[in-house]
Amino acid sequence: MERITNKKPLISIRNLVKRFDDGHTAVDGISLDIYPKEFFALLGSSGSGKSTLLRLLAGFEQPTDGKILIDGVDMTKVPAYDRPINMMFQSYALFPHMSIEQNIMFGLKQDKLPKEEIIKRTQSALKIIKMEHLAKRKPHQLSGGQRQRAALARCLAKRPKLILLDEPLSALDKNLRDQMQFELVDIQEQTGSTFIMVTHDQEEAMTMATRIGIMSEGWLEQISTPQEVYEFPQSRFVANFIGKSAIFEGAIDTIDDGFSIIESNETKCAFKLDRKIEGVEGQQIWVGLRPEKIMISKTPPEGYDPKRPINTAIGKVQDIAYMGGLSTYHVKTASGKLIKATDFNVERNADHPTWDDVVYLTWEQENIMVLYS
Ligand code: ADP
Ligand code: MG
Repeated sequence: MERITNKKPLISIRNLVKRFDDGHTAVDGISLDIYPKEFFALLGSSGSGKSTLLRLLAGFEQPTDGKILIDGVDMTKVPAYDRPINMMFQSYALFPHMSIEQNIMFGLKQDKLPKEEIIKRTQSALKIIKMEHLAKRKPHQLSGGQRQRAALARCLAKRPKLILLDEPLSALDKNLRDQMQFELVDIQEQTGSTFIMVTHDQEEAMTMATRIGIMSEGWLEQISTPQEVYEFPQSRFVANFIGKSAIFEGAIDTIDDGFSIIESNETKCAFKLDRKIEGVEGQQIWVGLRPEKIMISKTPPEGYDPKRPINTAIGKVQDIAYMGGLSTYHVKTASGKLIKATDFNVERNADHPTWDDVVYLTWEQENIMVLYS
């Protein structure tokens, strides 16, 4: 992926707050830069403030505090219709009495573009969504996915710098949604527009976006690439929201140049990392491990020191869920903490642990997730 650090942001959101009249704070001090040609996903559960943030960007809501800049221009006094933005609502129906072509042309006519330009842009938008042959159909003569694509074409034809999509695929059934995910990404790449998409579906955000902002209670918990969100969550919330994790409470014991040590009573072992982590010695912290990154064995790992166990926890197998290609072991440590480890059943006759076996759970230092809240 392109490095975006030396580009100028298309959108700068600064300390944005939206408090509704009833006192509810839907957006609670968000700062965020979005760069040209990004496909940015706002991911969060229902009620986390995603739509409100999108509506603030579009100009349908006024912020209580903070500001939004687009291309360096303060949008505070710019009304929705003058912003270089087009928003596609999930419920934003096409005009039922107009053909798809007429639907696309409508906004361009309103903008008083020359006739040739209107025709050119409409043709091009129809081509991008691969619906030239359906141009004369009315919305009710199309499938759900085709209607969705038509609504997108209407958006694209206006050539906005920024397209906002609020749960654009949520009305579609699973197969269609999977297909549309790829098409949307394709269309975004073809047109070079910047997309901001709201979704509550992690998989959708992970597969489509170049970056994800994870929202919780009006606040962005983390802004990262999909890979970073999964590999390096920064909080317990994100570690649990994206995928599954075992989380242990601990404290920073040592921070040194080439390594760091976190102690946890829950595992009765030290977590040692081959790098300097952020924080101070003595600080409360949490560590997370993905189940597939925890190895399980009946024998101790090489170099295991029972007096000072490092990156190895001992426990007893409580339960095994066998699922063909892999088994999930539920292992209880001496502290009573339950840890799930996934074992891939690669070797058919391997000496796999069974119920009540004492096992060693180990992990590579680079797979330790350091969580600060
Ligand atoms: P999301 O899109 O993430 O599901 P919303 O942005 O729609 O969340 O809403 C965030 C919170 O703000 C919710 O608790 C919602 O009830 C509240 N909210 C949204 N719009 C209004 C409004 N016009 N007046 C009062 N509260 C609102
Ligand atoms: Mg919403």
